[in-house]
Amino acid sequence: MSDFLENYTLVGEKLGIITYPSPVLSKKAVPVDLFDDSLVQLIKNMLFTMYHAPGIGLAAPQVNHSKRFFVIDTEYSREEIVDSDGDKTFKLGDFKPQIFINPKFLEKDGTIVHEEGCLSLPGYYEEVTRAEHIVLEYQDIHGKKHIKKASGLEAICIQHEYDHLEGIVFIDHISLIKKNLIRKKLTKEKKSK
Ligand SMILES: [Zn+2]
Repeated sequence: MSDFLENYTLVGEKLGIITYPSPVLSKKAVPVDLFDDSLVQLIKNMLFTMYHAPGIGLAAPQVNHSKRFFVIDTEYSREEIVDSDGDKTFKLGDFKPQIFINPKFLEKDGTIVHEEGCLSLPGYYEEVTRAEHIVLEYQDIHGKKHIKKASGLEAICIQHEYDHLEGIVFIDHISLIKKNLIRKKLTKEKKSK
């Protein structure tokens, strides 16, 4: 069976990203049990959406699918190009997409503090403490099980995206006072749209 990840090219459809506080973002997602073409198509569209957002990770609940999987790429390049009219575009390349379906942490070790952002909370950045090293068991798009070891930014990204499957957003890790302020602001912004 061929794997589109090996020769990934940027094709797909841009999906709408759900913003906080929407109910789907605080719901525990359900496991994937059908590894079919529609799953592959959804994943391709999620990658396309993530790269264009741009972001380094996107979980299924963020595109309104309460299912246990997410995509990440912490290594791709993004070059800003300014044309003669002064308009900015981005040249994306060196894609290394990774997909984690039905992930489970086997090990978490150490601590690391990093400023995080989220496509579902545009404009907000907060320092979050995470495990520095992780070992994750997951399934690929064919349902085959694998083990992933990660450290640093990749481990942070995996933990951030995993949280989305548990109905947790990164500001759930910060103080309640700060969180309520952000929640109020975002609710107001949504209403005024
Ligand atoms: Zn996020």
